[in-house]
Amino acid sequence: MRIAVAKEIEVCERRVALIPDTVARLVKQGLEVWVEKGAGERSFFSDTDYEAAGATIIGDTAKLWGETDILLKVSPPQEREDGRSEVDLLKEGAVLVSFLNPLGNPVVAEQLANRKITALSMEMIPRTTRAQSMDALSSQASLAGYKAVLIAAAALPKYFPMLTTAAGTIAPAKVFIMGAGVAGLQAIATARRLGAVVEAFDIRPAVKEEVQSLGAKFVEVKLDEETVAAGGYAKEISEASKQRTQEVVAEHVKNSDVVITTAQVPGRQAPRLVTEEMVAQMKPGSVIVDLAADQGGNCACTEPGKDIVWNGVTIIGPINLPSSMPIHASQLYAKNVTSLMQLLIKDKALRVDFSDDIVDAACVTHAGEIRNQRVRDALQ
Ligand code: NAD
Repeated sequence: MRIAVAKEIEVCERRVALIPDTVARLVKQGLEVWVEKGAGERSFFSDTDYEAAGATIIGDTAKLWGETDILLKVSPPQEREDGRSEVDLLKEGAVLVSFLNPLGNPVVAEQLANRKITALSMEMIPRTTRAQSMDALSSQASLAGYKAVLIAAAALPKYFPMLTTAAGTIAPAKVFIMGAGVAGLQAIATARRLGAVVEAFDIRPAVKEEVQSLGAKFVEVKLDEETVAAGGYAKEISEASKQRTQEVVAEHVKNSDVVITTAQVPGRQAPRLVTEEMVAQMKPGSVIVDLAADQGGNCACTEPGKDIVWNGVTIIGPINLPSSMPIHASQLYAKNVTSLMQLLIKDKALRVDFSDDIVDAACVTHAGEIRNQRVRDALQ
């Protein structure tokens, strides 16, 4: 059984799917591991370290992709410089494990099905206790939440903590976190550690206790509808609820020095939480970091991948923040992927068992079919 780690070609992608430690573990189990030359370079893992862990370094990309049973990567398959998709490099019937963004870009799933690839999407791993060690959405969202606060602190023309100095007292920064999922909770914890006064808001009332346990105030909005969908995710809410929410949060946005938005609804455009009118009410020098920038943005003024100044307010729309911390992002992702490998490989042989709920949920294409109804619907 051969496993290969691809070098990422997406320009913003600095992560790598396995780090040397995890390679060593797979080799110990009797698996052959190929690593593409330079695959770990942008996350500071050298070919020499991979070789020392028991991997074979392969310089020929077509050979690496075409002669492996399981190909591991981070970003969804891309179009190569020669105009061919990376998907075309895989041998028919091979397994691909990666983030695939199957709901946002279902065309890749179609390409994978056409090539009869068994594709497991790291986004589709269920958020259950048993799947926790494979939950790459959580491991990466946590990095994003942390980094968002650091970016905001660096851009804010103020201190975060309260300071009592001989030259006078500095009031602590006020930080408002919108969306208290994995990224939002890590953002709260990080902002608190830096000494800010933190408020948070989410349409899922269940997060109130978690928010409070991190030392933040929960901003409550009573809505007359169910806001939680299957799997604990947020639902898209009605126009009336959106209106009600905006009325409540507007005051908190206005009074904050920093707003960090993390709200998402799986498979849909990110909800618009911060309107132009709200930004116009903020104090000059305030900062917004919009973690939903590449899903359409939670803030009306966000431009994905850009820092802009609008009416004196800096609005930062980072893309792929986990990739900006590639050592730990890769370490955690590699652990997630390796845990999934333990589920798929028994006695050195590949077993794709659809009676296992994790495999069933994560596997988007197999034997020429798109297995997931939501992905099929997204293609229509
Ligand atoms: P996410 O990235 O999908 O969304 C981020 C947050 O935005 C969520 O908390 C969501 O409720 C919120 N949101 C959506 N629409 C909003 C709106 N209009 N206004 C304000 N907030 C809004 O979320 P996530 O971090 O991936 O977590 C999703 C779910 O998965 C949560 O229930 C979380 O607790 C659960 N989870 C479970 C496990 C586990 O049990 N192993 C692990 C991780 C996450």
